[in-house]
Amino acid sequence: MSKRDYYEILGVSKSASADEIKKAYRKVAMQYHPDRNPGDKAAEEKFKEAAEAYEVLSDADKKAKYDRFGHQAFAPGTGGGGGFHATNMEDIFSNFGDIFGDDMFGSFFGGGRRSSGGGGRARGQRGSNLRIKLKLNYEEIAKGVTKSVKVKKQILCNTCGGSGAKDKGSVQTCNTCGGSGQVRKVQSTFLGQMQTVTTCPTCNGEGTTVTAKCTSCKGEGRVFGEETISIDIPAGVQEGMQLSMSGKGNAGERGGMPGDLIIQIEEEKHAELHRDGLNVAFDLHISFADAVFGTNAEVPTIDGRAKIKIPAGTQSGKIFRLKGKGFPEVQGYNRGDQLIHVNVWTPQQVSSDEKDMLEKLANSPNFKPQPDKNNKSFFDKVKEVFN
Ligand SMILES: [Zn+2]
Ligand SMILES: [Zn+2]
Repeated sequence: MSKRDYYEILGVSKSASADEIKKAYRKVAMQYHPDRNPGDKAAEEKFKEAAEAYEVLSDADKKAKYDRFGHQAFAPGTGGGGGFHATNMEDIFSNFGDIFGDDMFGSFFGGGRRSSGGGGRARGQRGSNLRIKLKLNYEEIAKGVTKSVKVKKQILCNTCGGSGAKDKGSVQTCNTCGGSGQVRKVQSTFLGQMQTVTTCPTCNGEGTTVTAKCTSCKGEGRVFGEETISIDIPAGVQEGMQLSMSGKGNAGERGGMPGDLIIQIEEEKHAELHRDGLNVAFDLHISFADAVFGTNAEVPTIDGRAKIKIPAGTQSGKIFRLKGKGFPEVQGYNRGDQLIHVNVWTPQQVSSDEKDMLEKLANSPNFKPQPDKNNKSFFDKVKEVFN
């Protein structure tokens, strides 16, 4: 893949001053910043591309090499110095911490990438995700439901409010980094002096250290407890489906972001109905007399009971369809149907009177089976109903 011209990426001319390059980079980086384009891979690529262009063009020495040799200057194996590898986001944020951390860029995004505010300082470690299983019956799935669930998990320590410190006085500004959470290092490289900014090893980027720990949570900022969580389940979910609630998992360490709650759906079996995707099937058993004379039958549905009319002369194996009586699609407008499969009950024992009557009937031409003239197979019939 051929690389785009660094000047073109930043939208500046070759004669642009260092200040103009810096401004142009900020503009492009802001436009494609991951905080502004969450989950957007194309934006992330552009963001990385801009970081790479800026790394070269902001360094007089590298810029001169690039102006002379183009991308070749940094190609591996040309003695050009190993090139640039800001392929991961953490590198970009640490290499250009000064740009992201300072002035307008910093204030715009509230500082560094990991923090939720506060001058580029990271907070404690994020809590882990929590997984629970939730069993729902057909009625709940059909309509959607709000479930209140008690979840045992790590929760924020009430005593210290998550700081992990005994009291306000036991939180001190970190001596190593002076509270910024970052330390700067100047390294001599082949391409000249490079300043890198990395997370402070003493405070792990938090900017503060704790001299006396909170006794309730032993300094962790979280304790084991339980929380009642109200979970909204949309209509139409299925066995095995997973829903995620952001921030409802385990509390983070010392004020870190909480993890997510992952809810795995389980379906409770229904005594009479069988689910197949959006459709629901029901086996109806009727007597031979009802099949001959016709009848009204009551059938269970996922939405209470329903009456259906069985016409006179209904054959065993007939499939009726209740349109729209199936499950709704999750986040869609489609709805399945309920299929009712008719089974005509054949008596397994008869009295001698009944036997006499049946023997008389057996010879009547009306009792002679007359298979479907179209000779449709069972599968054809099922297909007809489904389409
Ligand atoms: Zn505590
Ligand atoms: Zn520090």
